[in-house]
Amino acid sequence: MNIAWAPSPNYRTGRNRRQVIAIVNHITAGLMPGTLSWLQNPSAQASAHYLVTKTGYIFQLVKDEDTAWHAGIVNQANWSLYDGTNPNYYTLGIEHEALTGEALTEQQLQATLWLHQQLTSRWNIPIDQDHIIGHYRLDSVNRADDPGSLFPWNRLFADLTAIEPVPTQSQVNVRVGTTLILGIIIENRAYAPVRELGQALGSQIDWDSNTNTVLVQPPSTGVTAGKVRIVVSNAVINGVLIDNRTFAPVRDLAESLGHQVGWDSSSKTVIVS
Ligand SMILES: [Zn+2]
Repeated sequence: MNIAWAPSPNYRTGRNRRQVIAIVNHITAGLMPGTLSWLQNPSAQASAHYLVTKTGYIFQLVKDEDTAWHAGIVNQANWSLYDGTNPNYYTLGIEHEALTGEALTEQQLQATLWLHQQLTSRWNIPIDQDHIIGHYRLDSVNRADDPGSLFPWNRLFADLTAIEPVPTQSQVNVRVGTTLILGIIIENRAYAPVRELGQALGSQIDWDSNTNTVLVQPPSTGVTAGKVRIVVSNAVINGVLIDNRTFAPVRDLAESLGHQVGWDSSSKTVIVS
């Protein structure tokens, strides 16, 4: 999936010292190519950071770091994070090409799902109904149908928070110094429970339930997603969640903490030194 740059003059540089905290979804109530050229027309005085077309193309009109003009007029808002200031300063806007009342196409849904994954990860946006909203939450009077009752909220949230199924596992010992940890093998890689492994390696382990992210201290910033990610310094490792326990790939986690990983085939033990 890629993003085509289609700049709009309708924006303000910077974000008035605010942070991005949420995504606002819209529909254009117009079709390509006119809807894109309108958002690029200075007379529109309107824009969005992104436009996702029916055929699954993604255009970016305004940089994330700048303020697009997509949700500035607030009228009987229903949003707990609205603080009385212009929402454009602290949101990203995604327009979807559709006429009022239309559903997204499947290609469009896949594209916007991918875009939401990128943006929630890049900006550390929690995946919930306060941080991914529709325009109607900010203007329930004139934008009640934006993005409309057919917008696929359930699928979007389900896909963004999905835990992928884990293939068959077998057990393996992981030894760190004198500590023995029971790990598992998945597709020829050794995984160990991240808390036990991190502690054996002398690190503090924190869990951010908002973003389903394990943070191995010292953490980096700006990393999350709906799936189980493990953040170590500036590396992101894909872990697996089994019976509510997070398992980290031993080699990836140990090596990113500066340790070496070997395999003792006689005792079938992963040795971390
Ligand atoms: Zn809108």
